[in-house]
Amino acid sequence: MIRIGTGYDAHRLAPGRPLVLGGVTIGHPQGLEGHSDADVLMHAVADALLGAAALGDLGAHFPSDDPGLAGADSAGLLRRVAAMLTEARWRAVNVDATLIAERPRLAPHIPAMRANLARALELPEAQVSVKATTTDGLGFTGLEQGIAAQAVALIESMPEGG
Ligand code: MG
Repeated sequence: MIRIGTGYDAHRLAPGRPLVLGGVTIGHPQGLEGHSDADVLMHAVADALLGAAALGDLGAHFPSDDPGLAGADSAGLLRRVAAMLTEARWRAVNVDATLIAERPRLAPHIPAMRANLARALELPEAQVSVKATTTDGLGFTGLEQGIAAQAVALIESMPEGG
């Protein structure tokens, strides 16, 4: 049995915050605001996996008023989501994600993001895709008010006794 899920996240850019995307801290005058490290890429991928398994959403499992999650490393959240899927006898087949940001240029950081996602999901990097796009100056991402990410994930049920 296979299932597909989608995920989406966006956070506001603000001065004085580190910019963490896909577990990579990127030098930039602004970072993303949020209760955790506000890593939109990790969050979108986690929601895609939860959605594929019909296990609810990230906010339900990791509420933003949980003091234990303040400044949380979202790679840890993604690992916990992967463990939930394993518990429910699902495993990820592949994930594909798109970061939507006007600046900074993300291409040089994508290999490290893929490696971080693959490690958190215990998947070969060939099954983890990260892309980046701008919106040509349009909308909140284009105006550099925020950064968004969207993702899809395919999962398959684990064989009986496997
Ligand atoms: Mg988020």
